[in-house]
Parts: sequence; structure tokens; C-alpha cells
Amino acid sequence: MANVRLVELTKNYKRGSEIIHAVDGVTLDIDKGEFVAVVGRSGSGKTTMLDLLGLLLKPTAGSLFIDDVDTARLNDRDRAHMRARRVGFVFQEYNLLSGLNVLENVMLPLRYVKDGKAGRQRALELIERVGLTNRIKHRPTELSGGQMQRVAIARSMVNSPSLILLDEPTGAVDTETAQQLVDLLKKLNSEDKVTIVLVTHDLDVAAQARREIRLKDGKVLSDEKVKETVPVG
Ligand code: ADP
Ligand code: MG
Repeated sequence: MANVRLVELTKNYKRGSEIIHAVDGVTLDIDKGEFVAVVGRSGSGKTTMLDLLGLLLKPTAGSLFIDDVDTARLNDRDRAHMRARRVGFVFQEYNLLSGLNVLENVMLPLRYVKDGKAGRQRALELIERVGLTNRIKHRPTELSGGQMQRVAIARSMVNSPSLILLDEPTGAVDTETAQQLVDLLKKLNSEDKVTIVLVTHDLDVAAQARREIRLKDGKVLSDEKVKETVPVG
């Protein structure tokens, strides 16, 4: 089953009298459990495509199916519900709330669903998996960039989404920290079968995905699946 299906998906913006084809008739499927990197120059439509997938934007034309649901048929309430339930978001700037500690930040998306105690337990488990159990009471300002991004990743998973969308998640950290974050994402991807769609400028990061979609001027320039590699040792 396709986790995400785009059919001629299109998003246009108007700038004065000019129409910008930010996403220009993209058709592709992403299956459950895939780890996809989306690459392309600045302005090629990566963020717009990700925001469409995350239901943060509505397309100008074309269709988007998530878990076989035609998202155009959803009313605003169902759309918000689907976004909260099925999609996790991670941004370059972490977007943590500075007034909340690590546990509270990770638990934030639970407000939009009714999970109560099970949710708190899940938040604690995720914090452990991202290696921050000893930082639960810390505020974001007391954490490094890599740690803040780990909090954001744990938060994106707290409602057990089927899909996680990351926009330049390693853009603000050093190479070594970036690699640790990628290792974490690979682990979550393989253990939880959560679909990962990661926008990145970093070719070393993109090279570790199992599929690379390259955009240019809102269109798919290439879409390549990397062969499974057998780990050594
Ligand atoms: P990328 O993330 O690959 O840098 P974007 O998706 O942000 O690309 O942008 C794709 C194109 O759409 C660019 O030409 C950009 O200027 C334009 N664009 C993005 N968002 C808006 C907006 N809200 N209004 C007008 N133009 C936009
Ligand atoms: Mg962008």
C-alpha cells in the first residue's frame, strides 16, 4: 500500500502578475517504511512539496492521498485530525517551546489527540530512544543543537504517525552531529517502519537514504532507489 500518493500534484503562487510553479505536476508513490531524501537547489520546491505532504498547504491542482485517503475530500476538522495523527514534522530550527521542558515539548502533540497516560508513557520511551532521559526536565536553551533536534524528532513521533517529514533537519548542526541524527532516523525507520521524507542540502545525508528524489523547478528531475547494502561485520 502506498503511504503517500501524489498525482499531478501542483502548487502555484502568484507574485504580482507572475505565476510561480512551486510544485509542478508531481506524480509519485511513497510506500510505507521508505526512507526518502528530497534534494534540489534552493527554490526547487522542496519545502512546498513537504508542506503539501504534511497538509500545511492545499494544492492548486492534482491529488494527494495519505494512507489511501483522498485528502481533498477532508473537511478542515478531519484534515487537522489527520495531520495530528498521521504526520510528524521536524524543522531546521527545531521549533521547540522555550517555556517547556523536554518532556513537555515531546508531549505537546498529545493535546490534539486523546491518549492520556499512554501518551506520557510513549513520550518517556521516545525520550529514552533518542538518548535524553537524563535531560527530561531541561529547557531547550540548556540543550545543544543536536539535542534539541532529538527532542523535535521524539516529539514528531509521539502520536505514532505513519509519516515523518523533515525539512533540512541537519542544516544547523555540525557534520558529526548531523551523522548522529541520521543514524537515529535510520534506527527509527527500521524499527518502527515509519516512513521518512527528508529534505536536505547535504549530499552526505541524502546518500544514506534508500531513495533520492531530485526536484528542479517544481518537477521531479530524477527519482532513484538505492540498492540495499549489506552491513559489514
Ligand atoms: P526550496 O525549499 O526547494 O528552497 P520552496 O518550496 O521554498 O523551495 O520554493 C519554491 C518556489 O516557490 C520558489 O520560487 C519560492 O520563491 C516560491 N515560494 C515558496 N513559498 C512561497 C510563497 N508563500 N509565496 C510566493 N512564492 C513562494
Ligand atoms: Mg526549503
